[in-house]
Amino acid sequence: MRNKDIPEYALSVLREHGIDTVPFDVLELARGEGIKVYKNSDVRLLCPTEYGRIFCHNDKSIIVYDDTRTHSQKRFTVAHELGHYFLKHREEHERFERYLELQRIRHGRHVERQADIFAQAILNPKITEE
Ligand SMILES: [Zn+2]
Repeated sequence: MRNKDIPEYALSVLREHGIDTVPFDVLELARGEGIKVYKNSDVRLLCPTEYGRIFCHNDKSIIVYDDTRTHSQKRFTVAHELGHYFLKHREEHERFERYLELQRIRHGRHVERQADIFAQAILNPKITEE
């Protein structure tokens, strides 16, 4: 998906989930997809420099976020990880972590930028009445 197509796609995701008011609960959006979200202070899976990460295995996905950050940082982190999920960054390789590693080498921050665009779009959506 091209970067410029992401905001429209992100809004279609919100519409599919019946979200038409802002701000909305990003955890609710995750729950709607069956994604469990964990505080890192409970599971301790993040590296010290990480804000969050999505772990995908077969059909299951979990998001872990650094719960020591501010409210808006935590919200953005979960939205960013949902961006990886909805933009299907996980499907290119069986193991998402390995995929990210390869992406960092091959494409630098491309997928990270895409997930940020998605997060911005769902957190600041221009939702219009149909
Ligand atoms: Zn990311």
